[in-house]
Amino acid sequence: MIAHLDLGRENRPYETELLAAAQRVLTSGWYILGKELAAFETEWAAYCGTSHCLGVGNGLDALTLIFKALELPAGSEVIVPAHTYVASVLSITNAGLTPRFVEPDTASYNIDPQEIESQITEKTRAILVVHLYGKCCDMKPIWELARRYNLKIVEDAAQAHGALYQGQKAGNLGDAAAFSFYPTKNLGALGDAGAVTTNDAELARRVGLLRNYGSEIKYYNELQGTNSRLDEIQAALLRVKLPHLEADNRRRRHIAHRFLTEIHSSLLQLPPAQTYDQDVWHLFVVRARQREEFMAYLAEQGIQTAIHYPVAPHQQAAYAEYHHLSLPLTEQLHREVVSLPLYPTLTDQEVDQIIQAVNAYSLVVAE
Ligand SMILES: *Cc1c(COP(=O)(O)O)cnc(C)c1O
Repeated sequence: MIAHLDLGRENRPYETELLAAAQRVLTSGWYILGKELAAFETEWAAYCGTSHCLGVGNGLDALTLIFKALELPAGSEVIVPAHTYVASVLSITNAGLTPRFVEPDTASYNIDPQEIESQITEKTRAILVVHLYGKCCDMKPIWELARRYNLKIVEDAAQAHGALYQGQKAGNLGDAAAFSFYPTKNLGALGDAGAVTTNDAELARRVGLLRNYGSEIKYYNELQGTNSRLDEIQAALLRVKLPHLEADNRRRRHIAHRFLTEIHSSLLQLPPAQTYDQDVWHLFVVRARQREEFMAYLAEQGIQTAIHYPVAPHQQAAYAEYHHLSLPLTEQLHREVVSLPLYPTLTDQEVDQIIQAVNAYSLVVAE
C-alpha cells in the first residue's frame, strides 16, 4: 500500500541526528526560550530573507499573534480566501476581527485577485493571503490593492516553506507571515511548532511579547499576551531538518513534474504547471467530478488519497453566521479536490505505480 503520507518514513533518514539534537537539549537543562530557539529563528529568517523570525507554538497561533500585534481597530475586516484550511479563518475571528471571504481562481486554487476589490469596505484593514498547496498567490495585483487601500498583507505560508514568487520567498511577500511546522508540513517538527517572519521590527517586538505573556522582562507585562512558545527540543529538531528542506522540495518538484507530464486523463483536472519549479508541492491536488469513485478505485489499487478539505470554512458547524453565504466556486472545489500521495521519500517505482493507476482509472471508467 502506498500511504497518502508516512511520517515515520519521512523522518527515518534523520533519526540519528534528531536523537542527538534531543539529547543535546535534555543535557543542557534549558527547555524554553533558549539557544536552540534563537539559532533556529536566525536560520529561518535567513532562509526566508526576512530580518525577523519569532518561534511560536503552532501555525494558528502564528497567524493569530500577527493579527493581535497589528492592533487593528475593533470590528476591522480582513479579506481571506474562502477556499482554505479553517485555521486561516480562525485566526481572524480569534483576534476579534471579521473575515470577508473571496472566491478562488479555480485554476490555481488560490485567492482570485480580481475578486478582492468588490469585498473591500471602509472597515477593511488587511488581506490574509494563503499560499495553498505550496503555490504562492499572485501577489502583484494584491500588492497594488494593498497600496491603493492602505491594507496590511498577512501571509499564511503554512503550506509554502521555500515557495517562490518571482524569485522571492514565501514569508517575505507581505507585512508578516505565519508558518506552521506541524509534522506533515514541508518542514515538519515532531510535534506542534510555528513561526512568524517579518521585516517590521516593531511588529516583531510585539509578537515576541505576545507569545510570552506580553512580557519582555520577567514578571512585568506590557501587553495581554498568551503562552505560545516554540520549545527548545522542537527548535533543535527543526534545525536538523532545515538544511534538507531545499533537497526535499526539489524531490517534490521532480515528482510533481512527472505527475504533470505523465498523467493523462479526461476525467481529472491537474494543477497548473506554469510555476511548477517555484511551487513546493505541499500537496498534489487534482479535481475529479466523481471523487468518491476515483478514490475508491485508487484504494483498490493500493493507493491512499486524501481530501484537502471536505468542508469549506464558511460551511463549518462552528461558523453558522456564514452559512447564508453563497460561494459556488469554493463549494465546488471542496466537492472535487483529491490529493495524490506526494512526499520526498516516495520511490520512483511508487511514482510509476501512482501514474499507472490514475491513467488506468480513466480507461476503466471510459469502457
Ligand atoms: C497547517 C495549517 C495551518 C495551521 O497550522 P497549525 O500548526 O496546525 O496550527 C494554518 N493554515 C494552513 C493553510 C495550514 O495548512
